Amino acid sequence: GRKFFVGGNWKCNGTIEEVKKIVTMLNEAEVPSEDVVEVVVSPPFVFLPLVKNLLRSDFQIAAQNCWVRKGGAFTGEVSAEMLLNLGVTWVILGHSERRLIMNESNEFVGDKVAYALSVGLKVIACVGETLEQRESGSTMSVVAAQTNAIADRISNWSNVVIAYEPVWAIGTGKVATPAQAQEVHSELRKWLKDNVGAEVAASTCIIYGGSVNGSNCKVLAAEPDVDGFLVGGASLKPEFIDIIKAAT
Ligand code: 13P
Repeated sequence: GRKFFVGGNWKCNGTIEEVKKIVTMLNEAEVPSEDVVEVVVSPPFVFLPLVKNLLRSDFQIAAQNCWVRKGGAFTGEVSAEMLLNLGVTWVILGHSERRLIMNESNEFVGDKVAYALSVGLKVIACVGETLEQRESGSTMSVVAAQTNAIADRISNWSNVVIAYEPVWAIGTGKVATPAQAQEVHSELRKWLKDNVGAEVAASTCIIYGGSVNGSNCKVLAAEPDVDGFLVGGASLKPEFIDIIKAAT
C-alpha cells in the first residue's frame, strides 16, 4: 500500500521569528507515526538550514525548487547538490506558480525532475490545469502532457510523489470536491498504468493540493486515489496538524 503523504509548502512566506514559531508548533504536535504518514515541510531556501537544525527528525524537509542541472555560473540559482549537502531530502518541482509566473515549460520541469532524482533527491512533482483548461475540457490532456514530460525522462518512480494541484483551487478557497479530485487522481493513475507500468501506477503517491484545510481534509482523504496533500496557506497554521492526522 501507499503511505499517506502530507507536504507543507510555505511558499515565499515567513521571518526568522515566524519560522521558529511554526517549527515549535510542529515539534510539539502529536501525530501518527512515520510508518503511517510521511510529513515534509518546505520553507523558502534561506530558512532551510534553520529548519533543518530545529525540526524534529521524523519530519523531512523539501526545497521549493532547484536548478535544472549541476551548479556553476547560474546566478541566483540553488543546485540539487547544495540541497543534499544541507541534509534536505526532497524538492518540489513544477509548482504552478513556477510554471505560470516563471514560465517553466513541461520539458524544463521534466529535466529538473530527472536531474534531481539522478543526484538522490526525492521529488514532489506538481501538475494541474487552469480554470480555462478545465472549462474547455482539457484537464486530463494538460495533466497527461505535464506527467509525460517527466515519464519521458525518468525510469525509476520510487522517489517521486505526484501532486495534483488544480490552479483554480490554489489560494482561492475553492477546494476541489472529493469527486473532482478522485476523478483526476484515478485518471492519472490509469495514465501511469498505460504509459509507465502497473507497478508504478499502484505504488506512486498522488496527493492533492489546492485550498486544503483542517475541515475539508478528511473527506478528501477518504477517496481511494487521494494519497495525501500538498498544503499551502494552512501549512503555516496549527490546522496543519489536523491535516497530518487525516491519515488515520
Ligand atoms: P493553498 O493550500 O494555499 O491553496 O496552496 C496550495 C499549494 O499551492 C501547495 O503547493
